[in-house]
Amino acid sequence: MEKEKTCDRCHQPVSELNKTYRAMYEGPEIEEYEQILDEYISEAYPGEIWEDNINELEAKYGPEKVDKAFLYDQLCNTVGSSWECVDCICK
Ligand SMILES: [Zn+2]
Repeated sequence: MEKEKTCDRCHQPVSELNKTYRAMYEGPEIEEYEQILDEYISEAYPGEIWEDNINELEAKYGPEKVDKAFLYDQLCNTVGSSWECVDCICK
């Protein structure tokens, strides 16, 4: 028996799927995280010395929030393939 095809987005069974690419995070901008990312500064110096202000940010916002902000950034910039029905792919 053939495995039933379901849309990655609406999870409805469909006969035909189309491949598309989407960012892992598609929700609205989270201002708090955007703010942290805006304030993040990293600089590389010769001799592989790397300096950033992560300690300052962690002191200001808390390590957990800073962690989540970077995860959010990563998800926004990671694009994965998605198999979707005709209705979803046009959205
Ligand atoms: Zn769908």
